[in-house]
Amino acid sequence: MNTKSILRMNQGHGENSYANNSSLQMKVMSKALPIVKDIINDMFVNNLSLEMSESFNIADLGCASGPNTLLLVTEVIDTIYNLSNKNLQILVVLNDLYKNDFNSIFTTLPSFNEKLKEKYGFEFSQNCFITGVPSSFYERLFPCKSLHFVHSSNSLHWLSQVPKNLDNKGHICIDKACAPNVFDAYKDQFYNDFYTFLNHRSCEIVPNGRMILTFMGRSFPDLLNDDSCYLYELLAQSLNDMASQGLVKQDDVDSFNIPLYAPYKDEVEAIIVDEKSFHLEKIEISQFNWDPLDDDDNNNKFDQIRSGINVANCIRSVTEPMLVTHFGELISLKDVFKIYANRVANHLKTKRTKVVNLTICLRKI
Ligand code: SAH
Repeated sequence: MNTKSILRMNQGHGENSYANNSSLQMKVMSKALPIVKDIINDMFVNNLSLEMSESFNIADLGCASGPNTLLLVTEVIDTIYNLSNKNLQILVVLNDLYKNDFNSIFTTLPSFNEKLKEKYGFEFSQNCFITGVPSSFYERLFPCKSLHFVHSSNSLHWLSQVPKNLDNKGHICIDKACAPNVFDAYKDQFYNDFYTFLNHRSCEIVPNGRMILTFMGRSFPDLLNDDSCYLYELLAQSLNDMASQGLVKQDDVDSFNIPLYAPYKDEVEAIIVDEKSFHLEKIEISQFNWDPLDDDDNNNKFDQIRSGINVANCIRSVTEPMLVTHFGELISLKDVFKIYANRVANHLKTKRTKVVNLTICLRKI
């Protein structure tokens, strides 16, 4: 299945929040896939660290369990098939948190393997191995020098935790109006998390092995010029609306924060330099409309109300488990995201806003 056909499949369920979210993630990931192909191509052509190896070992970190999960695997297998000797074994390790629905991925594997057999023949398909490792990517996941290529998309903006001792009343992460010390606390948490991530991967990846990471980021150092966090500022405002209508407790809103940080690209570069294990080969910035189903910036018939609902569905699928855990089962998510959809629609009337993503390519020194 190619990227476009999966995207179309998702768009068919416009009302479905999970489909809306995975189509945005699909767009983000599909932007990185040509880079993945180029890098793997380069690794094989220059035969970096591969000549001694009987298998090419890949990990996809933060793989989730949805229509996008096997997309990377498909692309990588296809690229390698067209490049290598057909006897090379390919090991793909899918990683996500323990609560990820690995079973639903594994139940699709028999038909995935059948398709491999049809497309590439029995022998090559027998040499492709897919497995799962549940754990946080902020921990060690793999044996030393066991991986050639690591990919992660739409995941590393999720921090290991909300920064400790945060006083961020009325906000739910960093936004234009939050206190400077809140901004610093999130920035420091990202520094520690990303540094830890690089440090663990540096043990696990062979010299000259590569890593391609795509995550939410910022193209400006200050928050005033950037819209990345505004999606969540509007959610904070919606929760405050709910509190003023007595639908949730203000104390609960004041103590709710999400572990999300979209770093400025120079911050990311600085951490890579400080950690010292990787050479930064490339950093690319891409932007997508907030509404994952809005592709046409020149469309004069832009429907803000529809887009507000699409964005609300998307953000609901990401934040629902956190909201339910914090506010309890009784919170009316329907009400929260109705208010939110209106706030997003009002904002989009004035500005067709975009989410910024960073894609970075790293080579293990
Ligand atoms: N890579 C997929 C899914 C992205 S959704 C895509 O691009 O479409 C983000 C995923 O990251 C979620 O499944 C979430 O569980 C996972 N994730 C977040 N923090 C993580 C961590 N510390 N370790 C492993 N996975 C994590």
